[in-house]
Amino acid sequence: MNTCSKCGNPHIIIRRKHSGQNLCQECFIESINQKVLSNIRKTMLIEKGDKVLMALSGGKDSVVALHIMNSLQEKNVIDLVAVTIDEGIEGYREEGIEIAKANAKELGVKHRIVRFEDYFGRTLDKMMELDEINQNSTNPRHACTYCGVFRRWILNRVAQEEGATKIATGHNLDDETQSILMNYLEGNINNLIRIGPKTESRDERFTVKIKPLREIPEKEIGLYAIAADLNVHLAGCPYAGDSFRREVGQFIKELSENHHTIMYSTLRGFDKIKPVLKKEFTLKGNNGKCRRCGEPAAGELCKACSFLENWEQNL
Ligand code: SF4
Ligand code: ZN
Ligand code: ZN
Repeated sequence: MNTCSKCGNPHIIIRRKHSGQNLCQECFIESINQKVLSNIRKTMLIEKGDKVLMALSGGKDSVVALHIMNSLQEKNVIDLVAVTIDEGIEGYREEGIEIAKANAKELGVKHRIVRFEDYFGRTLDKMMELDEINQNSTNPRHACTYCGVFRRWILNRVAQEEGATKIATGHNLDDETQSILMNYLEGNINNLIRIGPKTESRDERFTVKIKPLREIPEKEIGLYAIAADLNVHLAGCPYAGDSFRREVGQFIKELSENHHTIMYSTLRGFDKIKPVLKKEFTLKGNNGKCRRCGEPAAGELCKACSFLENWEQNL
């Protein structure tokens, strides 16, 4: 009979195929907490006194990250503030916001909700409707492209408004291995060498982003949310359709069925070759300043403002 590898409890909730470990509910929760905190130490994601802005969507990854980061706030290591971005996706985002609010309230974490509409004058739904050029183009932009650009802009702006020294996101092991493979397959070396536990910022005017769950598989985050009885938003975004990321994710998932350690080996291998890649390929910086919003930009306009101006000219 399989029993918990740590305490001998016969009620195990997980058999870790990559390590052969069996764990009961309590030992599993403890093992994730320990793993996340030890990764934070090992990769030096946090310094005492940091003010961390947690990007809290209400989904399982960010809710689990919020709860574990809050343990650092309780020990007075960091100050924690959460932000939920309302992109304006009707029928989807509303529930996530309520769940995010409830989690922040339960933990007593300061929480802000910021809307695309307030910062950019339109919701993501409206952007997709207005995007005539996109619709007529042979290579249309997916909603996630806009969503990603505008979300990054808002996170950076809110971090400045809050005086945050770090922005924490809920990226997990699956997300990270997908990013490594995607950028490699697309030959996007400039983006590839930015991947890591801390963002290698294009510019120091951007607040450093950290990924405390980078070494935790998505499946285990889902299980943690159930085991710790967390309130999480389970619905999928209606725009999350046919992206390349999804295809790559599916491919890695299939490989993982027979090769249980493949995600870890992808991550470890990448982390080893990254310093060599960085020597060969220097990061292209956004040295300029966007003439419209003042944020760092490679050209005259940052990406968010160039989308906005493009729409305005075509209205
Ligand atoms: Fe935004 Fe795409 Fe995520 Fe939906 S799936 S929230 S559109 S990035
Ligand atoms: Zn146990
Ligand atoms: Zn701008």
